[in-house]
Amino acid sequence: MSRFLSKQFKQLTMYEAGEQLGDRYLKLNANESPYPPSPLIKEVISSSHINQLKRYGDISYQALHEALANQVNLAVENVVLGAGADDVLDLIFRTYFQPGDTLLLPNITYPFYETYANSYGYQVAEMLVDDQLQIELSPYIESDEPCVIVNPNAPSGHFHPVSEIERVVQSNPDRLVIVDEAYIDFGGESVAPLVKKYDNLIVVQTFSKSRNLAGARIGYALAAPSLTEDLKKVRGTINPFYLSELQVLTALASLSDDAYFKQSTSQIMTTRDHFSHQLQAAGFYVLPSLTNFVLVKPRHISANDLYEGLKAQHILVRYYTKPVINDYVRISIGLDHDMTRLFDMMLTLDQENHTSVLASMDRKLA
Ligand code: PMP
Repeated sequence: MSRFLSKQFKQLTMYEAGEQLGDRYLKLNANESPYPPSPLIKEVISSSHINQLKRYGDISYQALHEALANQVNLAVENVVLGAGADDVLDLIFRTYFQPGDTLLLPNITYPFYETYANSYGYQVAEMLVDDQLQIELSPYIESDEPCVIVNPNAPSGHFHPVSEIERVVQSNPDRLVIVDEAYIDFGGESVAPLVKKYDNLIVVQTFSKSRNLAGARIGYALAAPSLTEDLKKVRGTINPFYLSELQVLTALASLSDDAYFKQSTSQIMTTRDHFSHQLQAAGFYVLPSLTNFVLVKPRHISANDLYEGLKAQHILVRYYTKPVINDYVRISIGLDHDMTRLFDMMLTLDQENHTSVLASMDRKLA
């Protein structure tokens, strides 16, 4: 740390993303898609576009605003773009909160929120999930603090129907509700249409998961025009050219290929459901998920040992040390044959552990 670091950042802890250990590993730890992005992207980015990079692009990003508005059935004024959902969340947090403000969050959710709140000096009021890791929304309704609801939640996969979220939004029109829908395209129903009705709701979505574009960094918020106006104003004072033309072209091409989007998301959901059933039939505890990952509690082996055992076999899944979820591993859904390999390996590790525990009990009894 240098002596120049601003006082507010002295206590920083960085967000820990899923490990990146190279191509020799089967990577099922960052909820990335196993499928390539739409093949249209390659067709769209031509050498004339590359030549265009010498100029700044359209500062209003009009074409992409229009395409997105069209996709989600809202107006251009309802859309705010960003370099991934994290960038959009950063913009929202900068725009609406200041040090000392309190944000309501579930104790089990996307860990970036806590990292973020800490780095900016926001307080977090943690709402406890139940023993099925479900979020009870009544404390949100009773509170007047701004809140974040990840729907479906990560890493639990728990989903709230639109009517439940609407009750939170309705409960206090003067409190901001941020709904992070990073995983909404894997079987959930979006609350985005509600932004036409409520001006205290911001919905955040991303191209990273369901559009197979985590590396392209494209995300967006959907909200009432009064909110998007605030966000665009603040953006204009920080980094007005926040998306490259390559990002814009990539996003436009992806949006124009609806068939591919539907096909790859539906394949991931089919694989997820099959993998979950297989694990349940083998005695693993699997939380219901409407996302591209599942949270799994093994039978005999500890979650940490399962994570280590899989890593030794070059399969990466996500293990969190945080109490409540440290009994689980989070597994992103990959290709069918990769999930079969993973399933076999999980069974073997779980069974080996069971056998060795039984053998040591026998030795103790003897
Ligand atoms: N929200 C949630 C719940 C996520 O899991 C993630 C990605 N891990 C993000 C937001 C950020 O997504 P992006 O890649 O678009 O920044």
